[in-house]
Amino acid sequence: MRILLVEDDPMIGAAVEQALKDAAYAVDWVTDGTTAIEVAEVEPYDLVLLDLGLPSTEGLDVLRRFRKGGRQLPVIIVTARDGVEDRITGLDVGADDYLVKPFEIRELLARMRATLRRQGSGASPILSNGVLELNPATFEVSASGSTCRLTAREFALLRALLTRPGTILSRADLERHIYGWNEEVESNAVEFLIHAIRKKIGAAAIRNVRGVGWMVDRPS
Ligand code: CA
Repeated sequence: MRILLVEDDPMIGAAVEQALKDAAYAVDWVTDGTTAIEVAEVEPYDLVLLDLGLPSTEGLDVLRRFRKGGRQLPVIIVTARDGVEDRITGLDVGADDYLVKPFEIRELLARMRATLRRQGSGASPILSNGVLELNPATFEVSASGSTCRLTAREFALLRALLTRPGTILSRADLERHIYGWNEEVESNAVEFLIHAIRKKIGAAAIRNVRGVGWMVDRPS
């Protein structure tokens, strides 16, 4: 999952960026509205966290631009503007959710999970292909009766696969779900993570398509 964080306050931005990384999201952080519009045009983000008071282009105008193209881009407004009118306007312009600062990171993460869930396969918080069950709230994966906990990056990789069972994801596809712009990626990082996950859940759970990438099976 790749998140665009649009926040001009350096302290809040840095805190949220770190919390998202700890929660296994790849994060790109921008500090003004115009850059947010530009990068969202080239990178297919899974979700945007959008401040309203922003330099260059105001947050609501950023949201209007996103919605003008008719894109299914989930957006959560995160702002200090706490009036009822502000909330109504934000939601009516097209936000999927609205969170008022100051907030607890745990609540932001839960709202992100809920918003992403609505975009995906339905109401269940568990990602599953019938063989594996992955819990995004705890990073726990269950396979053939046993449960174990994944690291943040192992979780990010398996989540990317389980969100699209039956689809082969290349190394580049997987990297963009795990690493943000400013994170250095070791050349064999994906193989290393796959190896670690297979050790925990069994080698057969993730299939390698030689020279192309990896996949998990579609539910049968
Ligand atoms: Ca601001």
